[in-house]
Amino acid sequence: MTRAPAPGAFLDRDGVLNVDSGYLHRVEDVVWIDGAKAAVRRLKTRGYRIVVVTNQAGVARGFYGEDDVRRLHAWMNAQLDAAIDAFYFCPHHPSAGSGIYKRACDCRKPAPGMIMRGMAEHAIMAAGSFLIGDRDTDIEAARRAGIRGVRFDGGNLDDLVADLLGAE
Ligand SMILES: [Mg+2]
Repeated sequence: MTRAPAPGAFLDRDGVLNVDSGYLHRVEDVVWIDGAKAAVRRLKTRGYRIVVVTNQAGVARGFYGEDDVRRLHAWMNAQLDAAIDAFYFCPHHPSAGSGIYKRACDCRKPAPGMIMRGMAEHAIMAAGSFLIGDRDTDIEAARRAGIRGVRFDGGNLDDLVADLLGAE
């Protein structure tokens, strides 16, 4: 099945969709950011493919496993009435932890690997696409991927998205 290309809204997870409580991995610990669910709905309504890109070095550090991350993401999507199209996470860390996850990779932000993969796998065009993140590394990853990076510094996510889309 081929889909017509569409612009993408890439969203950092911790600090954008949910409060960044540090190595979040249990559904009972999720606190949604104000306006997060409405923002996803708004983006979907406006025709964006919505892709989460999140560094999860807690996997490399042995705090939780990849299955925990996937379970959390499935739960998050079930809480939304407009589904996120894809979740990508980087389980690596260049110097912390051990085993297969301790390595330099091309997916840990500020590397653009997760964004590039999302674009390739979900027919997302660079034009009109953007990433919303709460850290410099998010904005840098967006820059390297050739899309706009938008800083979210807290508050209501839907207000930011409404401003962003209204300006287009
Ligand atoms: Mg973040």
